[in-house]
Amino acid sequence: MTRPIRARIDLAALRHNHQLARRHMGSNRLWAVLKANAYGHGLLRCAQALAECELGGIGLVEIDSALALRAAGLHQPILLFEGCYSADEWPLLAEHDLIPVLHSMHQVDALCRAPLARPIPVYVKLNTGMNRLGLEAEELAGALARLKKSKRVTGITLMSHFAEADSGPEGRGISAQLQQFQRMSAGLDLPVCLANSAALLRYPETTRLPGAWARPGIMLYGAAPFPELKTAAELGLRPVMQLESALISVRSLKSGERIGYGGSFAAPQAMRIGVVACGYADGYPRHAPTGTPVLVAGQRTRTLGRVSMDKLCVDLTHLPEAAIGTPVELWGAHLPVDEVAQAAGTISYELLCALAARVPVVEV
Ligand SMILES: *Cc1c(COP(=O)(O)O)cnc(C)c1O
Repeated sequence: MTRPIRARIDLAALRHNHQLARRHMGSNRLWAVLKANAYGHGLLRCAQALAECELGGIGLVEIDSALALRAAGLHQPILLFEGCYSADEWPLLAEHDLIPVLHSMHQVDALCRAPLARPIPVYVKLNTGMNRLGLEAEELAGALARLKKSKRVTGITLMSHFAEADSGPEGRGISAQLQQFQRMSAGLDLPVCLANSAALLRYPETTRLPGAWARPGIMLYGAAPFPELKTAAELGLRPVMQLESALISVRSLKSGERIGYGGSFAAPQAMRIGVVACGYADGYPRHAPTGTPVLVAGQRTRTLGRVSMDKLCVDLTHLPEAAIGTPVELWGAHLPVDEVAQAAGTISYELLCALAARVPVVEV
């Protein structure tokens, strides 16, 4: 017997979500974002599943992941969101057909000095208000001139990233950043790449610019980029990951008895509880409090007490049929990961990316 936990990865759902992104984009100019092991879903598996679609390209941050995809025989364009990290990596770009994002003058200089076997296309990232990566307005003209003079570059796309495409009605949205981008790019007549999932779904003006590409990540995995405004189901997205396990023990508590580490939950009256083979070492968030939703035999109930490394406890008071072996869904097709994330005070991205290597994956 193996431990009952597993992650089911629904590749048809992944392709459906990519198709939906394409429809919003009006083209296949999409960098399917597969960084962080495809947000926990498995890099190679997702890249291969999407290769069957009309895939524009693949967005990554890890160069080793890009090289792994090339070694596996995937020939799609690959964009590296953070460019290169050290001087020896630049020649690999020409060798393996990888497109860097140049996000600082330091990188522009490094590329212009690098021995490349042939010129390559590049993305130039502009800082329009996120204030993490990107060239400043006063650096752009110099950077473009240097790139042109270096003869190492075949084409340039301008890129920027929104800080608040997903924020609620009280947020600032994207308009200031979009205006700044338009000021910086005016007259340059270069293709652009702006939208993440939230902007792609919510701000069509970011995808309708001539030659525009987008960079959807979370929506491909069927989670909502702005779950407070619209659920994934309302957006037409289908969840790709289902984390499931089973009850490995059932017991009765007397009133006042406590559960697990720290005894943070005390039974207010006699109750039945179940123990699920899933803990934080599987990727379930330890900070999920008592009351986090969970499905037992398809019925909604709640977690109780602290999540431990290998287990968590659930309320079976209203589930008299539940017994050892009864299936449990932690998140997935019937319990949106967004709801679990919200209960745990985080976002779906963090839960999906945290899926632990010890959890067996089943492709469906
Ligand atoms: C991760 C990332 C994305 C994808 O964002 P989602 O919110 O998952 O759609 C897009 N662009 C950049 C630069 C990123 O780092």
